[in-house]
Amino acid sequence: MSKKFVYMFSEGNGSMRELLGGKGANLAEMTRLGMPVPQGFTVTTEACTQYYADGKKISDEIQAEIYKNMAELEKISGKKFGDKENPLLVSVRSGARASMPGMMDTILNLGLNDEVVESFAKKTNNPRFAYDSYRRFIQMYSDVVMEVGKGYFEKLIDEMKEKKGVKLDTELDADDLKELARLFKEEFKAKKGFDFPSDPKEQLMGAIMAVFRSWDNPRAIYYRRMNDIPSSWGTAVNVQMMVFGNTGDTSGTGVAFTRNPATGEKKLFGEFLMNAQGEDVVAGVRTPQTIDQLKEIMPEAYEQFVDICGKLEKHYRDMQDMEFTIEDKKLYMLQTRNGKRTATAALQIACDLVDEGMISEQEAVLMVDPKQLDALLHPQFDAAALKAAKPIGTALPASPGAACGRVVFTAEEAVEMAEKGEKVVLVRLETSPEDIHGMDVSEGILTVRGGMTSHAAVVARGMGTCCVSGCGEIKMNEEEGYFELAGRTIKRGDYISLDGTTGNIYGEAIPTVPASITGNFGRLMAWADKYRDLGVRTNADTPRDAKKAAEFGAEGIGLCRTEHMFFDADRIPAMREMIVSETVEQREKALAKLLPMQRGDFEALYEAMEGKAVTIRFLDPPLHEFLPTAEEDIVALAKEMNMTVEALKAVIASLHEFNPMMGHRGCRLAVTYPEIAAMQTRAVIEAAVNVQKKHPEWNIEPEIMIPLVGEIKELAYVKGVVVETADKVLAEAGITMKYHVGTMIEIPRAALTADEIATEAEFFSFGTNDLTQMTFGFSRDDAGKFLGAYYDKKIYEQDPFARLDQKGVGKLVDMAAQLGRKTRPDIHLGVCGEVGGDPSSVEFFHKVGLTYVSCSPYRVPIARLAAAQAAIKNPRK
Ligand code: PEP
Ligand code: MG
Repeated sequence: MSKKFVYMFSEGNGSMRELLGGKGANLAEMTRLGMPVPQGFTVTTEACTQYYADGKKISDEIQAEIYKNMAELEKISGKKFGDKENPLLVSVRSGARASMPGMMDTILNLGLNDEVVESFAKKTNNPRFAYDSYRRFIQMYSDVVMEVGKGYFEKLIDEMKEKKGVKLDTELDADDLKELARLFKEEFKAKKGFDFPSDPKEQLMGAIMAVFRSWDNPRAIYYRRMNDIPSSWGTAVNVQMMVFGNTGDTSGTGVAFTRNPATGEKKLFGEFLMNAQGEDVVAGVRTPQTIDQLKEIMPEAYEQFVDICGKLEKHYRDMQDMEFTIEDKKLYMLQTRNGKRTATAALQIACDLVDEGMISEQEAVLMVDPKQLDALLHPQFDAAALKAAKPIGTALPASPGAACGRVVFTAEEAVEMAEKGEKVVLVRLETSPEDIHGMDVSEGILTVRGGMTSHAAVVARGMGTCCVSGCGEIKMNEEEGYFELAGRTIKRGDYISLDGTTGNIYGEAIPTVPASITGNFGRLMAWADKYRDLGVRTNADTPRDAKKAAEFGAEGIGLCRTEHMFFDADRIPAMREMIVSETVEQREKALAKLLPMQRGDFEALYEAMEGKAVTIRFLDPPLHEFLPTAEEDIVALAKEMNMTVEALKAVIASLHEFNPMMGHRGCRLAVTYPEIAAMQTRAVIEAAVNVQKKHPEWNIEPEIMIPLVGEIKELAYVKGVVVETADKVLAEAGITMKYHVGTMIEIPRAALTADEIATEAEFFSFGTNDLTQMTFGFSRDDAGKFLGAYYDKKIYEQDPFARLDQKGVGKLVDMAAQLGRKTRPDIHLGVCGEVGGDPSSVEFFHKVGLTYVSCSPYRVPIARLAAAQAAIKNPRK
């Protein structure tokens, strides 16, 4: 049997979302429930896929099926499409599986032309209404199908209103509107060079194709990438008999939510406009009335609407967002869907529905989008102000939240301004460890270079500071104190705003509102913890981050990047001294300076985590992030090391690497200079011993993690140094203490030989940042520059550094996990790359049976919720 591409509403139901899209499935479901739905049909998502497969054409068979269903609709309505006596008019709307802004939305009144409108005016005995409908149709069709642009038509309307001396559209009479329709068509012809299509069949196919086309417009592609929606899904199209809210004062149209979408309050919330069609409400042409006022104006329609709202909410067991039209006092439902809501409302509604006995705890857990929790943990823009603002650029949404402040170009300026009480946004080509102080006092960070795992991105996420990275369009002129973007010149001290959740950059001040956590947050998180299998740890390098993460529910530290502990201005010199040392003596002198700092840091971390697990990763400094570049730093370092500036510069030059990410870093450093691993081991064990003595009730078992291992013998060598030192330190202290030595799996070769590696490693932690970099073979710091072209061409749909590439990198993770378990059945398996806090990646890690994920502090709640959702959806046997 050939495939069915078109379904009448009466043939579908709510479970057919994949095929009919969300809107189509719900229209079918409301029809099935006997609700007043203007009838129609849905052209399926598969027809959309077919349209693309056929080279952007609607095949003859699908066209025939559409006309067959149109004939069916004619029968139901008792009207005829394109008929001059008794015309059937339809609306055409898009409807993907998930609601998607950015796609073509709606065309109303399709089927009108110069002749049909005449008879329509006579038949309805309402010429004003008929011509109003006609001019609206020409306007919408020109805009969304033919891409002429709304502005021209709005100008014509304004001119007409001025000519007639009136303020509102509703004050224009039938003749005015008829004249507007004529002017609109003239405008169309001037812009397109051909006549406005008058054949209703041509209009219909044009509209359906426009919906299909809009699936692939840049806004829709961007939205899909942000929201994990595959491009293969396609969109459905709904063709529905028109009902009219603009026939006069007994008609109207509106939108409503069964609960307040901003606060979650259990009270019908919405607005409507009398004598209007749908787009008037959205466009804000006139000020709508609140839904309560409908009670006074049309009590019967209101009562019926309230009744339907109750039924729909019970049926879908979730807050509904509905569109309705009243035509001559009769109510029609045009749409229902689970309503979009703020994070606060999402929590309120989930908790209320559990309390009302409508849903289970598990369903409540599934109901809240983990990514939405960001909004509770970070400042956000004032919604109205954001709506009014226009971005001047977009780059990578590297760390969520909203920031508004004055532009500064250096960390010093940031600190200086912040001390005066100014809010600042730090704009840098890229950040380096020297910028930490400046980053810390800034509201937000904007960088020209760098991807989702660049220094700026990783550090900002750890701090919970908003960051937009990799905006290559910026032309920096730091020296003269300005940068250029989108034709604007933004000077030092000017206000800009950043949205770290979308990556938008605004050349103006947009007020922000602080983060707010309510009791509902705790309730939902407790449910999440009850149902998840994956542990959730945090990546933290400072006691402050560790404490924050523990507050957010982290069960331990999964990654402490020890090189990050030397970012502070008073510490980085010692670290640099160690790096540029040429003799063991020099290095040991530098290491002796580092030892007490490290020990103190580790003690503070153990204290902050109150006995919970702490994985300390040994030094892994990509050299380009640490070598001094500023002349004054080089001079100071030379002095400290008793070297001439020239000699030091020569050493720095000799350390220059072409590919620092694949250079002398990770365990390679410990292989060449074992004294580094020895110093770090001593610091870890001494710290653990000291804290354990202070807190006998804790059971500290240090976890030491060796980075960038690719070969078993490499790990065995470094582990040898660790074990020898650790045992010596413990013997000195006269204490027995268990400690664990494990490795990162972040080099493909380590994943491939994980069974061997597990003979030495007691635990694995997948470093997906490097594993992704090396599996794809592109640099994590540079990929942002060209990935844009890959998204546009649909070669990749996602940034693999932000969301695990399950097919490739994921396969390595799965394989290494299995190999590791084969050698050591009780091996602990974690993830500490950035994807550890990404919900879809967390689901994958749950499925392949890892022990825990580790992510930056502010993502801990997100990972807890995502892990619970993964467990509820995919129970482990
Ligand atoms: C990784 O590579 O995934 C990782 C966590 O380590 P880093 O980002 O420090 O290289
Ligand atoms: Mg790494």
